[in-house]
Amino acid sequence: MKPQTSSPTSNVTPIKRNSPGVPTLWTIEHTCGHTAQHDLSDRTVDRRTGFARWLSGRECTDCWKATRDGNTADKQAWLETKRKEEREAADAWALQYKMPPLEGPDKAIGWGVRCRHQLVTAAYTTLVAEGEMDETEWSGVEEQARGVTRAGWWIDQRDTDGQDLPELLAAAADADRSTENPFM
Ligand SMILES: [Zn+2]
Repeated sequence: MKPQTSSPTSNVTPIKRNSPGVPTLWTIEHTCGHTAQHDLSDRTVDRRTGFARWLSGRECTDCWKATRDGNTADKQAWLETKRKEEREAADAWALQYKMPPLEGPDKAIGWGVRCRHQLVTAAYTTLVAEGEMDETEWSGVEEQARGVTRAGWWIDQRDTDGQDLPELLAAAADADRSTENPFM
C-alpha cells in the first residue's frame, strides 16, 4: 500500500521523466493557477529541483508582468472561471460514466470531483489508450472507481500517476467506499 499523502512538490513535474539524471524541462503550476513549462538547463543539476519549487511558489511570467503593469483586475475572476469550467467538465464526465456523487464537506466535494475526473481520465490514457489494458479489464477499474465515494480519498490521490490507479483503488479502505455500493 502506498502512502496517501501528497508530495510537497506536487505542483512541480519534470517532463523528461525517462531521461537519466535531473530533468531540464519542467512543468510548473504557479500560484496564479497557470501551468507553464520551464527549461532549467541553465541551472546546475543540484539546483534544478529547488529552483522548480521556488518557481512554483510564484506567479507565472505573464501574471508577474501583468502585476508589474498594474493589470491584476481580472486574475481572480479568471481563476474562478477556470475552476468552474473544470468542475463543469468533471460533472459532465461523471454523468457520462455514471460516477456517483462524492461524499464529504462541501468544499472537498468540488475538489474531489475534479481530482477524480483528472485521475481516472489520466489512468485511461496511460493504461488503455497508450497501454496494454483491454476495455473489459478497464471496466473493472471503472467499477472500482465508482465504489470510492469519499471526496478526501480522491483529493489525496491527486498527485499519483494514472497507471497506479488500479493499485490505489484496490487498497482503498471500506471507509472510503460507499455503503450503498452493491459490489461490496
Ligand atoms: Zn499566471
